[in-house]
Amino acid sequence: MNVEKIYKDANALLEGHFLLSSGNHSQFYLQSAKVLEDPKVAETLAKELASQIKKSNLKIDTVCSPALGGVLAGYELARALGVRFIFAERVNKKMTIRRGFEIQKGENILMCEDIITTGGSALEAAKVATEMGANIVGYAALANRGFCKRVGGDTEAKPTCKLPKDLPFFALADFEFDIYEPKNCPLCKDGSEAYKPGSRGN
Ligand code: ZN
Repeated sequence: MNVEKIYKDANALLEGHFLLSSGNHSQFYLQSAKVLEDPKVAETLAKELASQIKKSNLKIDTVCSPALGGVLAGYELARALGVRFIFAERVNKKMTIRRGFEIQKGENILMCEDIITTGGSALEAAKVATEMGANIVGYAALANRGFCKRVGGDTEAKPTCKLPKDLPFFALADFEFDIYEPKNCPLCKDGSEAYKPGSRGN
């Protein structure tokens, strides 16, 4: 499966000269929700991710995602795995699991995001699930931003990766690209101007 092509076709992977919310510049930008806009594409990606996960023989009772970004990916993954789905959400900045979702003691839960950057939100949601009795068996995402090491991937984990090293992390592809401080940006040196993603119709 050519995941990069699927992202590009969905305008989820943009190429240009972007001004990121951090103030840094980049040649690429992942608009990860765009790839899930078409439910058929979402289903295809989730089935592929599920087939990788099934090969690991992990026992999974439930998929859990941090809202909002992870919900669509997690729901589709749960469907492909044939298991239950729940989500965690922030209330006054604190991650919580509510809405009547229950977790049995020792319930095997796979955490799922649409994209894992350093994995901070997924880890926070996992901590809440663990406090409620969950046994976290691993992490999954459609895309890996290149800070964590995915099962079968070539990219090594960076020190900023927050995911536990003793649990598997499944993802379909690594989207690793450079981020530049404005003063060191080669795209600026070439004379173009950085713009905010979305400000030019994409
Ligand atoms: Zn620049």
